[in-house]
Amino acid sequence: MALVLLLCGGGAYAYESHVSYAVYLDGAFVGRVAAPDTVRRAVARLAAAQGLDPARARTVQALTSQPVHSLLRAATLGEAELAARIAPKLRFRVQAAQIVVDGEVVATLADRPTAEAVLGRLRADYLASIGADEPGVKVEAVRTAETVEVREVEVAPGEVATDLDRLVAVLERGTDVVKTHTVKKGETLWAIAQANHMTEAEILAANPDVEPKALQVGEEVNLVVPDPYITFVDTEVRVQRQSIPYATKTVKDPELNPWQRVTRQAGRPGLKEVTTRVTRENGRVVDETVVDTKVLREPVEAVVAIGSKAVAANGTGRFIWPTNGGVVTSPYGWRWGRLHTGVDIGVPLGSPVYAADSGTVIAAGRDGAYGLRVVVYHGNGVSTLYAHLSAIKVSPGAKVSQGQVIALTGQSGDATGPHLHFEIRVNGSPVNPLKYFR
Ligand SMILES: [Zn+2]
Repeated sequence: MALVLLLCGGGAYAYESHVSYAVYLDGAFVGRVAAPDTVRRAVARLAAAQGLDPARARTVQALTSQPVHSLLRAATLGEAELAARIAPKLRFRVQAAQIVVDGEVVATLADRPTAEAVLGRLRADYLASIGADEPGVKVEAVRTAETVEVREVEVAPGEVATDLDRLVAVLERGTDVVKTHTVKKGETLWAIAQANHMTEAEILAANPDVEPKALQVGEEVNLVVPDPYITFVDTEVRVQRQSIPYATKTVKDPELNPWQRVTRQAGRPGLKEVTTRVTRENGRVVDETVVDTKVLREPVEAVVAIGSKAVAANGTGRFIWPTNGGVVTSPYGWRWGRLHTGVDIGVPLGSPVYAADSGTVIAAGRDGAYGLRVVVYHGNGVSTLYAHLSAIKVSPGAKVSQGQVIALTGQSGDATGPHLHFEIRVNGSPVNPLKYFR
């Protein structure tokens, strides 16, 4: 209310005048309010209703008010009424900060500190992925291959990312696509790659922590190759201790039998400290240079004595059948692309095994697919071998005579049923034993 002095033809009259404020939304009249502050409060009310901080939210449209003087008191809108009138049209913009990679906006966040915190998390995750916290690793420098900036902008409220964990995951994967496969029994990484039209290299890149040879049933395998929005490039210096293998020197010992080996000096590996400078791009090593090698301990050579004693040719030169009869179930020769180096003689379990000729036992014990086996040396480079035994009755070095029981048959080692596998070797090479029994 104000007093207005009206001068009119020499007389002066005083009137009472009323002031109200006309509110315009982008130039269109909305209504009148008693004071401009009503407009401010109505806008703040609408911002708060949308979950926005009124201090940071700005309206897209221009909302203005102009004082209007009138003689009569005009009808005015309260804060709630004005808010209801402008609500259908009023749009807000909020201050935000965007992460811009080589000119392209990759993320919109509430403010600069939040954007910088997201970049900090990406960097920290990267450093953890390359093992920067492991002992002996010193990261010299980390940079990004792209130009990464934070820009302050105004955006529509819905554009601001609020789930930062998800945002960080998307930026690291390079996509919001999540596709996984749960490992089933008997599946290999290669088979999973095939089934999903991926190469083995791609599936390994998508699963850097998965050990291909130790794939577990129920394990989740990633089927999306990460292509991060930001490429980190780092150089690191790694100091690692490595073993130095030892050499083995053999010496001949005429005191020992030819089948004997005696360690005269145990070998011991050495130790060195290797300093390497590594450059990586998103974890992938692009350059690796050894900058220093320090030998901490020299290796100690192993010395092994091999027997060179001349063993008498004590065989008769003729062979007797090595067990009680039996049927040759598999002859000597090639079968299924492999040389069957002896004959298989089908006999009941526990049948006696006879030394086919006199000689010296040069091996008695377990030997891989042979199972329990005995080798007898007869002189002149000739030896016989008896395999898949159930019991051995002689020891290496023992002299045996032709026909002496040296073992019992069995099915030890790689044998499908009880039988005696019998070999004759000349200078170490197997020959057809049946040639000696005509
Ligand atoms: Zn055999």
